[in-house]
Amino acid sequence: GEVDLGRTVAHVVDTLKPMASDLGVEIELELPEQAAVVTGDVDELIQVFSNLIENACKYGQTGKRVQITVADTEGEGAHVTVRDFGPGIAKEHVPRLTERFYRVDVETSRAKKGTGLGLAIVKHILARHRARLVVRSTPGEGSAFTVKFGPSVSGKISTKNQLYN
Ligand code: ATP
Ligand code: MG
Repeated sequence: GEVDLGRTVAHVVDTLKPMASDLGVEIELELPEQAAVVTGDVDELIQVFSNLIENACKYGQTGKRVQITVADTEGEGAHVTVRDFGPGIAKEHVPRLTERFYRVDVETSRAKKGTGLGLAIVKHILARHRARLVVRSTPGEGSAFTVKFGPSVSGKISTKNQLYN
């Protein structure tokens, strides 16, 4: 079906607000003026945004805030970025984040409960949507996880489901 990304992300933010405030994290949401709509499964995309926003709050807790941007620009197409200002992720771990059960073995994440499946599920769902996950992270500064939907989900099919830099 047609999924309004702004509405969907706003809904996820509402459901995660109690968890965020327990962690002392404020979630900032920036929505586009015009709706960013993609073709997809709303329940699956809710799962994707929940996993990313939960991670940003949990692992980026020290940054105190999480910034989410929903946009649809000519250059980038429809995309959602979840940014935190936490410890970041060392470069060597980034390509492995979407592996099942992979967890970065640092004190900050060992202390947090998790199975290491969240990003594997994200990868799986995004592949079905012909969307990509772009991860940018700087140790000591934070991380940004961007979900990029193709210029046309029903049109051109990309064989590349993931891109890391
Ligand atoms: P689950 O999501 O199944 O509860 P999890 O959060 O450990 O468990 P993933 O969501 O797949 O699993 O994340 C894998 C690992 O990537 C995490 O354990 C953490 O080490 C690291 N990670 C994910 N997001 C961030 C982030 N925003 N900042 C720092 N590290 C992160
Ligand atoms: Mg997780």
